[in-house]
Amino acid sequence: MSAHNDLLTSDDPRVLACVQHGWRAYRYQSAWNTDRVSWRCVWCHGVACGDWRETDPCMEPYHHEGDHRALSGVSWPLGGNRPKAGFRG
Ligand SMILES: [Zn+2]
Ligand SMILES: [Zn+2]
Repeated sequence: MSAHNDLLTSDDPRVLACVQHGWRAYRYQSAWNTDRVSWRCVWCHGVACGDWRETDPCMEPYHHEGDHRALSGVSWPLGGNRPKAGFRG
């Protein structure tokens, strides 16, 4: 059994169908047997794009299209640098 069966990305229909993600910190073993913590949705089991240790990570599902978007309302383009904290585009 893959360790990642319970971690879905934005190309999974269950993640696409999820109306409002309920993000919770979720601890699991990575492919290299190291402990990892990611934001995971309690409803669809989608994992968030941003890292758990970031203060204001992107909370779109992993592999999402369009801009990154944090809960604070800050957004920035894929592959681009996020604006400084407090900046509102
Ligand atoms: Zn969800
Ligand atoms: Zn993102």
